[in-house]
Amino acid sequence: MAGNIKSEIRTLERMMSIYCRGKHGGERLCPDCGALLVYAAGCIINCPRDPKPACKACPSNCYAPEKRALIREVMRYSGPKMLFRHPLLTLRHYLRF
Ligand code: SF4
Ligand SMILES: [Zn+2]
Repeated sequence: MAGNIKSEIRTLERMMSIYCRGKHGGERLCPDCGALLVYAAGCIINCPRDPKPACKACPSNCYAPEKRALIREVMRYSGPKMLFRHPLLTLRHYLRF
């Protein structure tokens, strides 16, 4: 797997866990957030675009509309928190959705 794909998925994982902890209260990802992470990681791994653009700027966004809305909610919630916890990762990746 290409390094940028791995790093994108790692960032997504961190953002999902910040979101889930804040909204759903557990130490580990809840089943819904876990399923969303698996879904989004699958889209990124199977991305047909080469080079891969930022998902939020992608003209043929491959996410199902409801999943895309959920991911955007996660980004909105976790983005500002990521700035403090993982500033470098955030600078590089958090606006990719
Ligand atoms: S939204 Fe676009 S860039 Fe993101 S994974 Fe899907 S096809 Fe690739
Ligand atoms: Zn959750």
